[in-house]
Amino acid sequence: MSDYHSFEQGGDNFLFFSRSARLYQLSDLASRMFSELQAPQGVGRTGPAPGPPPRPLSAAEAPLYAELCDLLHQELEVPLPVSRDRQPRAGENCFQTFSIYLAQNCNMACCYCWNRGGTFGKPGHLMGEKSAQRALKLILDLVEASSADKIFINFYGGEPLLNFPIMAKITLELLQHEARLGKNFYLTLDTNGTLLEGPVAQFLARYFTQIGVSLDGSQRIHDLQRPGKYGESTWQLIVNNMKSFPNPKLLGIRATLTAFSDSYLETFLALTTLGVSRIQLEYCHEPGYHQNPIYEQLNVPVERQLLELREFIDYYIDYISRYQDTRDIPFVSNILDHITRIRRGSRFTKPCGAGTNTLAINSHGEIFPCIAFVDREDFAMGRAGADAGLSLHDTLSGFEVDGQLPCHYCWLRYDCAGGCYATHYDMTGNPRHPHPHYCESMKGRAEVYFYALTQMLNRCPWHLLRSSNSAPP
Ligand code: SF4
Ligand code: SF4
Repeated sequence: MSDYHSFEQGGDNFLFFSRSARLYQLSDLASRMFSELQAPQGVGRTGPAPGPPPRPLSAAEAPLYAELCDLLHQELEVPLPVSRDRQPRAGENCFQTFSIYLAQNCNMACCYCWNRGGTFGKPGHLMGEKSAQRALKLILDLVEASSADKIFINFYGGEPLLNFPIMAKITLELLQHEARLGKNFYLTLDTNGTLLEGPVAQFLARYFTQIGVSLDGSQRIHDLQRPGKYGESTWQLIVNNMKSFPNPKLLGIRATLTAFSDSYLETFLALTTLGVSRIQLEYCHEPGYHQNPIYEQLNVPVERQLLELREFIDYYIDYISRYQDTRDIPFVSNILDHITRIRRGSRFTKPCGAGTNTLAINSHGEIFPCIAFVDREDFAMGRAGADAGLSLHDTLSGFEVDGQLPCHYCWLRYDCAGGCYATHYDMTGNPRHPHPHYCESMKGRAEVYFYALTQMLNRCPWHLLRSSNSAPP
């Protein structure tokens, strides 16, 4: 078990304590001495108090050594974080986020698509009227007994707008129940943007709170990675649709980076020309995701990812430091969410609420713990409209990061909190067993975000005061 981590990033030395989430920037001398403290004769995680120094110390080093020893003592006495789960009262539940796979079909053929256009390799299918009514009833029944006031409903696929009439029906019926239930519904959509036009666009602009459009950067890269089903170019159509969307503030762009993409920074800059202010970039799949040999060709090696992230962060923090008010930043990167989260220092002992506060319903009305588990039959929780209750796969219940190997030993365990069950399942066959490449990538990225946090604290701390950078969960 490791309760602290020292690392170098951007030429600076850092020391992070897992339990308290405190991050210290160390001088070169302090960093050197700290590595001596970590030598076998020094302290271990909660091991013996640091004894005499490992070598004779100079007059300048002695007080620093004492200070580091005190710091370690103090930090290692911080109690272990405990689970923040609140047990629901009898008859109550914690469900807050519902995803509906409206269309398990797509009009595009993106090279990295993880769920094969929503089909998972089966014949395409659109949610019909009956399944939609059952899904709606399931959601309303669960929401009525939910302890949450804010309810997030996400339409997903495939391409959900292929099934717009059903989407419109579900939306209007859901909203009719808002006042009766005393809840606020937040409707969101993930779309490829090709059908985001005309009356469909007007409907979405009126009733939805957020619309994520996938667009991979420059036209050349996007059309290479995200062609239409028949190989046709899609970039121009999507850009035209975004430009004419009635309420651009609702739009966010999500780009996926592959080994063929431009760098993170170049992609971000290309997307800033399109009039959309929220820009999210993600690397395609986790390195080590071996399920599909094509992904092997597309994955960006971790070292390249980290270099690109560093380059972007240096650029972006310089850019936002020119704005005195966070609301004036023209382009908001999702990196700000990561930094704000780290800044909050909340400690987590489990990764997510898959199956306990999150559900996904496929186009046939079958229920799964989250979008990433859809159509994995072992994880099916039941069927909308059936009387039987929801059953959660054993591996997804009762997880606590301190009780789970290898997370138990990991310095990042109260931030990563065990990682994504679904990704682990894909990579190792067990939702609780992370692949070493996954952990390497998580830890590398965390170091970069810690660095970014210190850069922001030095350059533009005022942007960390607002929490409104965060996207809804
Ligand atoms: S999944 Fe990996 S990085 Fe995350 S807490 Fe577990 S061991 Fe650490
Ligand atoms: S299993 Fe992964 S994809 Fe599903 S809710 Fe948890 S973190 Fe998200």
